Amino acid sequence: FPTVLPEPARAASDAPYLNPRLPVERRVDDLLKRMTLDDKVGQMTQAERAAVTADPSKITTLRYGSVLSGGGSTPTPNTAAAWVSMINGFQRAALATPLHIPLLYGVDAVHGNGNLLGATVFPHNIGLGATRDPALVRKVYAATADETAAAGVPWDFAPCVCVTRDERWGRTYESFGEDPALVISMETAIDGLQRSGVLATAKHYAGDGDTEFGTGSGDFTIDQGVTVTSREDFARIDLAPYVTAIRKHHVGAIMPSFSSVDWTEDGVGNPVKMHASKELITDVLKKKLGFDGLVVTDWEGIHQLPDPSVPADAPRPTALQVRTAVNAGIDLFMEPNTAPQFVALLKAEVVAGRVSQARIDDAVRRILRTKFRLGLFEHPYASVGQVGTAAHRALAREAVAKSQVLLKNSGHALPLSRKARLYVAGRNADDIGNQAGGWTLDWQGRSGADTIPGTTILDGIRAVDPSVTYSADASAPVGNADVGVVVVGETPYAEGFGDVGGPVWPNGTEAQKEPKSLTLSAGDRAVVAKVCAAVSTCVVLLVSGRPQVVTDQLPVMDALVASWLPGSEGAGVADVLFGRKPFTGRLPVSWPRSVSQVPINVGDRSYDPLFRFGYGLHT
Ligand code: BGC
Repeated sequence: FPTVLPEPARAASDAPYLNPRLPVERRVDDLLKRMTLDDKVGQMTQAERAAVTADPSKITTLRYGSVLSGGGSTPTPNTAAAWVSMINGFQRAALATPLHIPLLYGVDAVHGNGNLLGATVFPHNIGLGATRDPALVRKVYAATADETAAAGVPWDFAPCVCVTRDERWGRTYESFGEDPALVISMETAIDGLQRSGVLATAKHYAGDGDTEFGTGSGDFTIDQGVTVTSREDFARIDLAPYVTAIRKHHVGAIMPSFSSVDWTEDGVGNPVKMHASKELITDVLKKKLGFDGLVVTDWEGIHQLPDPSVPADAPRPTALQVRTAVNAGIDLFMEPNTAPQFVALLKAEVVAGRVSQARIDDAVRRILRTKFRLGLFEHPYASVGQVGTAAHRALAREAVAKSQVLLKNSGHALPLSRKARLYVAGRNADDIGNQAGGWTLDWQGRSGADTIPGTTILDGIRAVDPSVTYSADASAPVGNADVGVVVVGETPYAEGFGDVGGPVWPNGTEAQKEPKSLTLSAGDRAVVAKVCAAVSTCVVLLVSGRPQVVTDQLPVMDALVASWLPGSEGAGVADVLFGRKPFTGRLPVSWPRSVSQVPINVGDRSYDPLFRFGYGLHT
């Protein structure tokens, strides 16, 4: 008798699941039958890169189905070649399991593959919403797919199909806009990714952009709060993009939101967190809408579920959190640093009969189906592709130009005459990091002129007129310049409140964590005032992820442009400034007169914004 029972040779090369000519569902059936509980629970688990880098054999022993790079978790050096060799290494570990099930690697490529140094960084979704150009957005996301696949990654946690309803939300820029019809029209993003072979994720299901201010906690008193709404409005505003994402665009993955909806109740008096909502995940998403892809948690999403049975400081996740979320219908669990604990807890729940075998099989079926559809069984290893190509940069530049929204243009200040003597000022004129915003190299993004390769807005202006004077804080004399171009706005942030005028969260002090006032910083206001007083024509550009309240400064400006977060190709801004391309962008959100007007959305009863939704002058 052998002392150690060998693993059965379960993956004979003639096994039906390895036959690419058979229908996907047949392959799934065959593979499911061969899997042990360990195999299945492992498939439902997603660890973070940092948790497996030192010892990739964990992927083999715990049978992980997926690994992600959270924002900023990149290999060193941060090149496509390094990404591919890292991911192929993880893939080798996954394929060393008895059934050779390939790993599914995911990243947030939310405006191009901004994780990768040298990639083309496109405007954030808010700017794409301003273009009103679904075909362009499909191309942008197809290029994103190419540059994501070029680094060996077959899965993108994008697009965010949130409908942003309150600009104090620090994720406003991840939204295509405040109107569900606009967001739906931009879901060509899903086709762009998936037709290029990269799995898309519609997120965050649902109502993430529509939460009531003050209903979350700490920095998240809006980001992870409660959507206070009627069932009718929820369906019309928040759910609508998911109906089309599933039925029209066949999105392959959906990520629940950290938020909740007020008309759900968890039994202890709180609204049910999305990650625990059987009603919304199983009944609505899977049954009613017929979603057949996979549902993946957000980062440690289940750690937020209430568990009165353990002390508040008990390690997360808890058994109750695991079973609640699995039974609600979630398939894959983003457990960046707690994947082993998750595996052990879920196994125990199944063995104890608190999670059914049928539920596990549904989850695993969806994960395997996804992997078969992506062709991962046939092509598990990636090869290095090209990023930051001239064609992609040209496309990004076009998207930047089309995203610019001209809000004021007295005396035809724009386009600029090439004879104008220009003076450029403002901290966002020559800062590609600020111009790219959050989710660029790091989760929170980074300020800095040399953060990523590309052109700043100033570079674009200088390419037309090399003689311009630039002074970030307007301390250089204006001299004989007759036109001032002042570029101000926000600094990078992601989630939470966003730019609070000081060091960006989470490094800010308590006082700096006040909800963003949406007004320009004192420094920015001073530069605008100084330059606009000294020149005859004053053009102000706002590089920001959302409207800034500029009602008081508007009278001194001859022209005002919402530039959003253009990304790596600042030259696209210069294209419209100098009239090489027309201004055609239109506001994707309403522009408030004052912070007290927020939230303000098209269709509101007393709707009186400074600039209405859809506004934008054309040149
Ligand atoms: C965000 C998600 C993102 C995930 C993985 C979370 O903090 O809410 O949008 O996909 O991190 O990076």
